[in-house]
Amino acid sequence: MIIDCHGHYTTSPRQHEAWRQEQIAAHKEGRSAPPRPAISDDEIRASIEGGQLKLQQERGTDLTIFSPRAAGMGHHLGDASTSEAWATACNELIHRVCTLFPRNFAGVCMLPQSAGVSPRNCIAELERCVNQYGFVGCNLNPDPSGGYWQDPPLGDRYWYPLYEKMVELDVPAMIHVSMACNPAFHTTGSHYLNGDTAAFNQCMTSNLFKDFPGLKFIIPHGGGAVPYHWGRFRGLAQDMKLPPLPELLLHNVFFDTCVYHLPGQELLAKVIPADNILFASEMIGAVRGVDPETGYAFDDTKRYVEQLPLSAGDRQKIYEGNARRVYPRLPARLAAVG
Ligand SMILES: [Zn+2]
Repeated sequence: MIIDCHGHYTTSPRQHEAWRQEQIAAHKEGRSAPPRPAISDDEIRASIEGGQLKLQQERGTDLTIFSPRAAGMGHHLGDASTSEAWATACNELIHRVCTLFPRNFAGVCMLPQSAGVSPRNCIAELERCVNQYGFVGCNLNPDPSGGYWQDPPLGDRYWYPLYEKMVELDVPAMIHVSMACNPAFHTTGSHYLNGDTAAFNQCMTSNLFKDFPGLKFIIPHGGGAVPYHWGRFRGLAQDMKLPPLPELLLHNVFFDTCVYHLPGQELLAKVIPADNILFASEMIGAVRGVDPETGYAFDDTKRYVEQLPLSAGDRQKIYEGNARRVYPRLPARLAAVG
């Protein structure tokens, strides 16, 4: 089985994103948001069958761990109440996809974060998505201000109430920023990778995993700059008298394979133990073109993984085994849908 741990609903029906525009416009003008639009099952089916499902079948993957569009989370927009309403709408839509295609998608929720608002505010939505919808994880934005980094680092006690709930529910978080509103950053070109790299460093310089040995984070996009600069992080940890990185972080931190060329995948697999790599493509996401050097889509990451000199056991871990371990609720969900 091949589990893609990183997919977003980037092809959601048009009226869903249109409502978000209306909601934010209404917020700016001090009006209440209009009612949410009707979206039929047929519209959802069409958006999936012509998109994610089609590519799953073409590329030979089986299940996508699926969450709302990441850039669309927009935690810097509106306030706590608009974030709550938007997260509710987005997560409900993911639940509908997972209900219509239970064998192809497992849900992960976005959280109703807002810059400067306690992550405690996210607990109710996380509980709802896990307990009512059967979601297996959440996406946690380490920078709800959208590129201005106004909230405390992930190791700060500010975030602890949410971590306590994650551990209680036994769900991991993918650390995933949203749209950059700081013009210095391109959303997917620099802000995403900065977010990944910063999150890893924040974990390294905190007591987070001493305090929460059961907490699990997936750092997407191949871990940002981390694998490439592993020597720098090892050296920094050593200078700070910290334990070696595997002992300090690799019981809790995992990396995905959303690296869009073979040399990058080779480096990832060489530096990061197979136990800490989860297959992912983030397909129909940031990079949608075809690589003229290979003739295949940049985000067809399975093609790169196939070319890595992995043992059968390590390949199975990356494709399936690690996902089942890192998302502890996933095996029961898979068993339930056959
Ligand atoms: Zn993503």
